[in-house]
Amino acid sequence: MTVKASFTDEVKAELANVQPARACCQEAELTAIAEALVGTGDGTPLTLRIPRNAVARKVVHLAKIAGGRVETVRKGATEKRPSYRLRLTLPPGRGSQDVCCARAILRGAFLARGLLGNPADAYHLELAVPEGGGRLLTSAAARAGIPLKPTARRHRTVYYLKAAEPISRLLGLMGANRAVMRFENDRIVRDMRSQANRRANSETANLDKRLRAALQQREAIRRLKARDAGLHTLAPALREVAELRWSHPRAGLKELAELAQVSKSAVANRLRRLVVQANRNGLID
Ligand SMILES: [Zn+2]
Repeated sequence: MTVKASFTDEVKAELANVQPARACCQEAELTAIAEALVGTGDGTPLTLRIPRNAVARKVVHLAKIAGGRVETVRKGATEKRPSYRLRLTLPPGRGSQDVCCARAILRGAFLARGLLGNPADAYHLELAVPEGGGRLLTSAAARAGIPLKPTARRHRTVYYLKAAEPISRLLGLMGANRAVMRFENDRIVRDMRSQANRRANSETANLDKRLRAALQQREAIRRLKARDAGLHTLAPALREVAELRWSHPRAGLKELAELAQVSKSAVANRLRRLVVQANRNGLID
């Protein structure tokens, strides 16, 4: 049996592999992880319980390269839901006040405590930290212009976002680029569905057909971009239409034709070729 990974899992797996290059950011991310987990990021040895292998590995790696000390790593719990107990001393440095470190802090706090709803269902992102565990997080969010709101829940402070735009921006700031793509894609599907629901029935069938085609085209382009971000392997005419469709997900053929200054049938033909190309490369499931 395969269990579909949650969006939170996907984002954390991606963020665990984002390695900050600067020493200041390494210190900042590590301190933010500790603060969000146990409410403090001071110099004494801390014990961190981390439920994810990839995050535990990142903590160990960051501690080593940033000048901290890892005393012990213990694997706990069951094989099914492994967790790790790390005893470590953080490095003496705590990062900088620069934006680079604000991004590292947001990433660290999310890796430690983040939760993100599936964007097809709801726009909801939260970080539930122990009391006192939000100092770095709130100052980093303020510097980065992310409007986190706090609320109390038992002995935790929960910082949350409930709108698509700041969630998408936060994902981008943390460096979760694949997650941004998926989020934006799901966001468009959701927008278009609610638009479609508002229309009269007679229009809906036509619109559905158009939306399905537009979504299929976007999915094809997304996959082509995943292989080749600049689409440089495509013929210039195809690349142009791909970029237009990408940045105008709701546009009809007529609008795209006007933007590209070619005929409607030329646009339709190029979009068809894009989908065929993504198919041919085995990029479409
Ligand atoms: Zn930095």
